[in-house]
Amino acid sequence: MSNVNYIVGQTLGKYKIIEHVGHGGMAEVYKGQHIRLDRMVAIKILHPFLAEDEGFVVRFEREARIVATLRHPNIVQVFDFDHSGEFEIYYMVMEYIDGATLKDRLQDGPLNPDDIGRLGISLAMALDYAHQRGMIHRDIKPANIMFTADNEAVLTDFGIAKMIDLSSLTATGAMVGTPAYMAPEIGLGKPGTALSDIYSLGVVLYHMATGQLPFVADTPMGMVMQHINDEPQSIVEQIPDFPPELEAVILKAMAKQPEARPKTAAEMANDLRYATGYETPMVMRSKRSVLTTSEIKDLTKDTAITPSGAVSQTDKLQMSAIVEPLEQQKKKRPSFFRRFLRVLLAPVFIVAFILAGWWALDERMPIPFNQLLTLAGLPQIAAREVPTATPTPVMPATEETPVKVPLVIATPTPTPTPKATPIPEVCETNAKAEATRVEPQIAAPDAEILAYVTLRNTGNCTWPTGLQLAYISGDPLNPPEILTPTLNLRAPVNAINPGKRIQIVIPLHTPGEVGTYESTWHILLPDGQKLGSAIKFNVEVTDIITPTPTIPVAAMAEEETVQEPLILAEPVLAFWQDDTQGIWYAKLQLQAVGGTGNYRYFRGDTLQQDTELPDGIFEFTWQRCQAYPLKIGVISGAETAYWEGTIAYPAPENCR
Ligand code: ADP
Ligand code: MG
Repeated sequence: MSNVNYIVGQTLGKYKIIEHVGHGGMAEVYKGQHIRLDRMVAIKILHPFLAEDEGFVVRFEREARIVATLRHPNIVQVFDFDHSGEFEIYYMVMEYIDGATLKDRLQDGPLNPDDIGRLGISLAMALDYAHQRGMIHRDIKPANIMFTADNEAVLTDFGIAKMIDLSSLTATGAMVGTPAYMAPEIGLGKPGTALSDIYSLGVVLYHMATGQLPFVADTPMGMVMQHINDEPQSIVEQIPDFPPELEAVILKAMAKQPEARPKTAAEMANDLRYATGYETPMVMRSKRSVLTTSEIKDLTKDTAITPSGAVSQTDKLQMSAIVEPLEQQKKKRPSFFRRFLRVLLAPVFIVAFILAGWWALDERMPIPFNQLLTLAGLPQIAAREVPTATPTPVMPATEETPVKVPLVIATPTPTPTPKATPIPEVCETNAKAEATRVEPQIAAPDAEILAYVTLRNTGNCTWPTGLQLAYISGDPLNPPEILTPTLNLRAPVNAINPGKRIQIVIPLHTPGEVGTYESTWHILLPDGQKLGSAIKFNVEVTDIITPTPTIPVAAMAEEETVQEPLILAEPVLAFWQDDTQGIWYAKLQLQAVGGTGNYRYFRGDTLQQDTELPDGIFEFTWQRCQAYPLKIGVISGAETAYWEGTIAYPAPENCR
């Protein structure tokens, strides 16, 4: 291979190439830096021979524009794409993921079923999000799944395969996709579909489960033939304590006949939820408004669908109950005027430091719904008996070694009765932040953003009262008048038992100056001792929020004036929580693309004062096991678009 470092140190468009980080079949990947914004990016330079194909250039442009509209926490964000005449290359600029690929991770052997469930659900939901927008990945494989610093899986390389497909490369017999993960129908020469992505994800999960590929052959063609003809070896045969329900979901996704697989990636996510005990609500579109490629063609013009970061009044109410100031600490800021403004705004932000709620990723964790209703001034809902114990998913021990703090509880005073066998319980309080993310990661100065933290009780005892999530160092990401933010980590009514997870949403506020900020938080024991590792929120404050892709060819210029069709996408579930007493609560973030860029969202058929949804946020509480019917609309200029569907929680199978 020619020296890949020829471009290191050079400037490519708005970016400086810092170093070469990897290569794949279609591209060389470099770490780059936005010259003005100082932001790290990954730059993927497609192999030059691809550009010799005439059709390729057209496809590159089209696909790159579509891919740049995908905005999902588990899909790598594409910022920019362009052609450099100087270097004669096509390149894509994307979010830099500072973590390993799943391919690297698999070198250490299989993953545990718990992680497979968690990652599988995220990846299936990401696939579904893209499929609903007419995008098929076509090359799902561990090398295209990366882990963020927060251990969240993100899919990379959407659209790349499509750009390559039909090029002279494939015409000469090369196949798009990786034989080890390739669906049988693709091996048979049929075009890839959403169902082939589901197959490949099934193979990836199989690989995670066993540490092995289902099929191994000496030649790529041999492998393709096995995918077509052979049955994979049972996972349980190889890993005897692997949950058979989870194996069934994986093997179903790997069915030879596409019709025998889950019908959608959302269905697969749902199967995984059922098999693992994870629960997340399902958003289902009833009227098909799936975007065709032509519909979303060229839809890249600044479609910022980042969550607004607004926190609803209800959330604030809910959270205020459990926020406890830890220390009163003020931080100096340069501008007096800004300080003055913030003093005026302080009451608002004090309420904003609230715990937006708790939810369980399994059915075992009830939430204090009635308390929330009381806080919101609403009548309580009578508690019903929870039927019988719901199946308890096994929570295997995690491999990492968080700080362990032995805490002795219940050392029974010696009251020696012969029957009472006093077992002195040594209880280890432990906690782990499994996932952390900030939305949006790139925000304007003085903007409201949200930090999401998923915490898990990894100890062997219920979390004690007084466990806190506290700001420790860095930038507190809130106005200086606010007391140092601290959240009390205990659901007011119900205990956080071993294995349970909670998600906390922390409203934050970006500083007034452009820059990169990090805020370090920690879980603290009641005595102030730190538990687990530090939790970091990173946010980049810039006055340019969503870089508009530069369109390489001059001919694109006249298209700039063409208004894109208005589309109301499927609402994104920003937050939800569940009690086991028959009620759940959800908060949806609506997102529109196209139109004039200004949107007014509403519920129902028409925009009226009482149907308008400010900031595109819609909240509801509903009965478990009953699909919530929803019709929403958006007005942009003279256009109106609707989305209609249902949102169900939990999965129907869990409602029998
Ligand atoms: P392949 O997917 O065929 O392995 P790619 O060209 O997609 O090849 O990527 C090559 C390598 O570059 C990856 O294995 C990964 O280590 C790195 N890489 C790809 N995308 C990113 C990204 N967005 N951020 C950081 N590193 C990346
Ligand atoms: Mg890749």
